[in-house]
Amino acid sequence: MTSKPTARAQRRRWITASELLRLVHSEPGITRTAAAARLALSSGTTTELIDRLRAVGLLAEQRAEQRGRGRPTTVLRAHPEGPLVAVVDLQSSRWQVWLGDLAGGITEVADGRYSDAAPTEFLPRIAEVIAAVAAQASGRLRAVVAAAAGTVSGTTLLQFATRDWQRADLRVLTGALPAGADVVLLAGNDATLGGVAEARNGAARSAHVALHILVAVGVGGALLVDGRPMTGAHGSGGEYGHLPFGDPALACPCGAHGCWDLTLDGRALARHLGDAPPEDPIAYGQRLLASLRRGRGTRRQRAAAESIAEALGAGIAGLVNLHDPDVVTLAGLGPAMRATMPDAFARAYRRGLMSFQREHPTPILDAAHEADGPVRGALALGFDHLTSPDALAGWFDRDGRQAT
Ligand SMILES: [Zn+2]
Repeated sequence: MTSKPTARAQRRRWITASELLRLVHSEPGITRTAAAARLALSSGTTTELIDRLRAVGLLAEQRAEQRGRGRPTTVLRAHPEGPLVAVVDLQSSRWQVWLGDLAGGITEVADGRYSDAAPTEFLPRIAEVIAAVAAQASGRLRAVVAAAAGTVSGTTLLQFATRDWQRADLRVLTGALPAGADVVLLAGNDATLGGVAEARNGAARSAHVALHILVAVGVGGALLVDGRPMTGAHGSGGEYGHLPFGDPALACPCGAHGCWDLTLDGRALARHLGDAPPEDPIAYGQRLLASLRRGRGTRRQRAAAESIAEALGAGIAGLVNLHDPDVVTLAGLGPAMRATMPDAFARAYRRGLMSFQREHPTPILDAAHEADGPVRGALALGFDHLTSPDALAGWFDRDGRQAT
């Protein structure tokens, strides 16, 4: 029997474990050999570490398919009794709940529409779903992450402008869990979380500074430095859609005038065409742009699509002048806007760049993750929390087990 190690020593013991688990999360399917090489671990250290993580239910291994002659290796997997993260995806017109494991496996567990309900009505219903998921997972659910198509600060939804919701406390989401349940609640904006997913294992992987732009209902974005979003002092930074890149005469539901938001989504298309504001602006935009790409549509529709592509290209140029990123990633309706009117987009982007930026324009890549980007980013955030050295020490101690 050894004496009880200090908290500091405990923490140190889990630092390399934390690095390995984060690698398994950002690169699902990585082999033991590749992971050891990436972290520069000797085979002895790797064996000791993986044995320890298997024993505490954090990692499992599966024989890898043999490629070539090298020694057989294994693929590092989520442990069947390991920690889980639930993601509550609050989209503009519906919500979904997902459950994800350490190695990036995700399953949808519930969904619903808001109809006319306010957050105070539907958040408690989602909380019941979370409580049922937690009960079924018997102690494995350790974090809930809300991804919201609105402005988030800490665990408060400040504004969900497209539905006119103001200030909702997201802590309600973990309110139906039994007292003493050790489940952390985190929250983020959907564009920010989509940016995290692109920077960790999407189109901006390995970029030092990446700018992510999501066009959904309005436009949001995030600046990521080494995979971490720069979200300001209170977490609400990155409201790119409310920069005054738009028509100063137009009032935005956010309360400001001239917002970029109003110039480049499905609502803007409908306004140009004299249509009523669409119930689902994302689906409306996708449908119209797809039909234009098939060579259908009127001259007026083409002009409308051109106008939103220009607004997007010009605004991104301004943001590139501002942030000087290595790469820009484009998600949601953005890739379709560019693909439908590539010349208008490229022209507006070039014209908006400062001349020194124009010599080597920052590449703009379509996002690698599709609609699941924000959910993937939310999971990454949840596992960042669960795989911190302190949280790992806590996981190890949860059943009162002692360090050996
Ligand atoms: Zn606005």
